[in-house]
Amino acid sequence: MSKHQEIEAYRQQLRECVKCGTCRAHCPVFKEVQSEAVVARGKISLAQALLDGKIDLDRHLLSDISQCLACGRCVKDCPNQVPTDEIILALRRRIGREKGLTLFGRGVSTVLQRPWLMNLLTRLGRMFSWLAFRKVPQGSGLRLRFPAPYISRDRTIPAIAPQAFRQSHPEFIAGDPDKPLVTFFTGCMINYMLPEIGDSVLAALQSLGANILIPKDQGCCGLPALCAGDGAGAARLADRNLDALTAHKADVIITACASCHSGLTKHFRSLGPDHAQLADKVMDIHEFLLQQGFVEKLEQLPRRNNPQPVAYHVPCHLRQAGLKEAPRQLLAALPSVRLVEMKNADSCCGLGGTFSVYHYDISKKLGALKAEGIRDSEAEVVATACPGCIMQLQDTLNHAGLPQQVCHVLEMVAADLKNAEPQ
Ligand code: SF4
Ligand code: SF4
Repeated sequence: MSKHQEIEAYRQQLRECVKCGTCRAHCPVFKEVQSEAVVARGKISLAQALLDGKIDLDRHLLSDISQCLACGRCVKDCPNQVPTDEIILALRRRIGREKGLTLFGRGVSTVLQRPWLMNLLTRLGRMFSWLAFRKVPQGSGLRLRFPAPYISRDRTIPAIAPQAFRQSHPEFIAGDPDKPLVTFFTGCMINYMLPEIGDSVLAALQSLGANILIPKDQGCCGLPALCAGDGAGAARLADRNLDALTAHKADVIITACASCHSGLTKHFRSLGPDHAQLADKVMDIHEFLLQQGFVEKLEQLPRRNNPQPVAYHVPCHLRQAGLKEAPRQLLAALPSVRLVEMKNADSCCGLGGTFSVYHYDISKKLGALKAEGIRDSEAEVVATACPGCIMQLQDTLNHAGLPQQVCHVLEMVAADLKNAEPQ
C-alpha cells in the first residue's frame, strides 16, 4: 500500500493555478513539443478534469503525463508555486495502480526492489555485455548491437563496473575518533556503474578524517520506481533504507547523486515522521564539504600553471534543493580548474528518469541544446554532481561529436587532493 498523497489531496493546489501560462516559457518539454497538454497548466487542467470525472485514465492521459522531466522549472517560476511535479507523480501513481505499470516500469521497479536480482543481472551483464553491446567509437560508453525494447541503439550507456562499489569496500572505514561519523548512501549508479565516483567521495571524506559507514543493506533510493508510477514499490524501498540507514547512529548521511538526494529528502519527507527525521540528516556531499571548510582546504593546495577550462552542469535535483552553487564553489577552488561559464548551464540535461526511455527523441533534442552550450564554452571538461546527468551528457556529447569529457565534481576534487600528496 502506498503511503503517498492521493491526487485528491492536491485539489486546493490545483485550484491555485490561475492559468496565467507563465510555465509555457519555462517548461523544456513544452518548448520542444508545443502542446498545451504537456505544459504544467495543461497537466493541471487534465488532473482537474480527471477529479471532476470529465476524463478517464486512458492511454492519451498516460502519454501526456509521461511527458515530464520532473525538472521543477514550472514550480519555481509559477506565481503561486503550484507543485506540478508532485501532482504529476500523484497522477502517475494513480495510473500505475489502476491501469498497471508499463512493462519497462514494472521491470525497473521489480529489479530495484530485489538486490539479489540486481546483483545477478549485473553479474550476467558483466559476463555477456560484449555480446549485446559495442564500444562507442572514439567515445565513452556502450551502445546496443541489436534492436531492443526501450533502449535506442544510438543511445550511449555506461558499462557495468568490474566490481560493485559496496562489495569492494568494508562497511566501516575508521577515521579520527573526534571527527563525524558519516554514512555514505551510494545509490545504484555509483554502486554498479561508476564506482570511481564513490572512491572519490571516500578520498574527500578521508582527507577530513571522517569515520565512514557504507551500509551493505542499503538499496535504491526509490526515485526510479516513483517516476514509473509505482508508489507502493517506492515506499517499500524507502522503508528498507530507513532500517539500513538508522541502524547506525551516524551524524550525517551523505549522497553524491542529486537524484538520490531528492529521493532521500523530498520523497522521504512525504512518507511520515520517521522518514522525515532521517531526511533531516541527509546532505549532498558538496554541501557537506562546504560546511566542513573544504574550500579553504582546497585553496591551500599548490596552484597549477595551466588550469583546465571546466564548465559546470547544474543537476535539476540540486537546483530544486537550493544547492546548485555548492559544486560550483568547490570547482572554483580547485588548483587544476579554471571555471568557465556555459550557456544553459542549469537547463535540464533531458534524462528525467523514465522520460528519456519513453521520449528519447525529445530527450536528444534537449541534449542538443546542452551540447550547443558546451561547444560555445571553452570547456575541455564538463563537471556535474549527478551520475544520471553524467550518463545523459556523455550520450549528448557522443551525438554531437564533441571531444569534451564528462565527470563528477568529486572526481576532480579527488584528483587534485592526490596530486598534492608528497610523491
Ligand atoms: S505558471 Fe503556475 S499558475 Fe500560471 S499557468 Fe502555470 S501552473 Fe498555472
Ligand atoms: S516539471 Fe519540468 S518538464 Fe515537467 S511540466 Fe514542469 S517544467 Fe515541464
